[in-house]
Amino acid sequence: MSDDAAPLSVDTAVYKTLLESTQAIPWRIDLQTMRFSYIGPQIERLLGWSPCSWVTVDDWVERMHSEDRERVVSFCIEQSRNGIDHEADYRALKTDGSYVWIRDVVHVLRNEAGEAEALVGFMFDISERKKSEEKLMRLQRELEELSYQDGLTGVANRRLLDSVLESEWASAKRAGQALSFIMLDIDCFKLYNDYYGHLAGDDCLRRVAHIVSTSAARPRDLLARFGGEEFALVLPETDLEAACQVAERCRAALCDAAIPHRASDVSHLVTVSMGVATATPAEGGIPASLIEQADRRLYQAKQSGRDRIVGE
Ligand code: GH3
Ligand code: MG
Ligand code: MG
Repeated sequence: MSDDAAPLSVDTAVYKTLLESTQAIPWRIDLQTMRFSYIGPQIERLLGWSPCSWVTVDDWVERMHSEDRERVVSFCIEQSRNGIDHEADYRALKTDGSYVWIRDVVHVLRNEAGEAEALVGFMFDISERKKSEEKLMRLQRELEELSYQDGLTGVANRRLLDSVLESEWASAKRAGQALSFIMLDIDCFKLYNDYYGHLAGDDCLRRVAHIVSTSAARPRDLLARFGGEEFALVLPETDLEAACQVAERCRAALCDAAIPHRASDVSHLVTVSMGVATATPAEGGIPASLIEQADRRLYQAKQSGRDRIVGE
């Protein structure tokens, strides 16, 4: 042993102790053989696999979630080939069959001639961070949905209606297609609330929304709560005749549902009045004029006795 070997071996021991007492798991892969020349013993605590079971790069590849494998392996190979330090997140398989999110931070080691010789790195357990990220994303999605949803009925709210009507108007204009709009209002709903109570009224609104939503069957049709006991249907690529048929289907479905309304002036069941309007945006006009026309026809339906559809 030379004079300067002793301090070096002390250093090595210190480094080894330091390395093996961190939360992060150190490892080293020899690029020539593609075999692990070292992996920290902490790996067994995290994943269950003993250090001696990490022999070749394939052990690492096989213990990766199949959904992450292609992305991560091809990225790491590419970066290593080009001698670039890199990092990758993936799910690592545990001996019990579950997975842990890991961030692998990789450094390329070169020999004196500058050639890449080995990869060294640290695996970090990032499962907690991933959990909070996923929770945050879920909350964001929920918030997005909520801000476009009517809280009581779960159908689109006025905000989404306005934005969809705007974009469908533009799309109908480009395509030279017709765009229809139905305004629907529950008849004598104030009397419903007075007779059955406000909570029953809320329940009735939910039921009507559900029934109407199943009557407008095309994927691009949109049902929204316009406000109070009024709902609106946006029907793209639909002419007046077809829109009146949709309105008829809503009436028939509501009639089948037979929701009692003993206080109504019109019937012993819940009924609705509807105004149907159609525009060909390529011929001019604005979305608001479509709403206004449907609203005028709804008013006519109310004036002429309720429980009816006015489409011209
Ligand atoms: P018409 O046949 O002319 O439409 O009569 P109407 O009683 O339905 O109309 P009016 O505009 O006089 O009353 C609407 C009622 O709708 C009054 C209001 O209390 C009720 N309403 C509006 N929003 C809600 C709600 O969110 N829940 C409940 N339960 N009732 C609501
Ligand atoms: Mg009303
Ligand atoms: Mg009403």
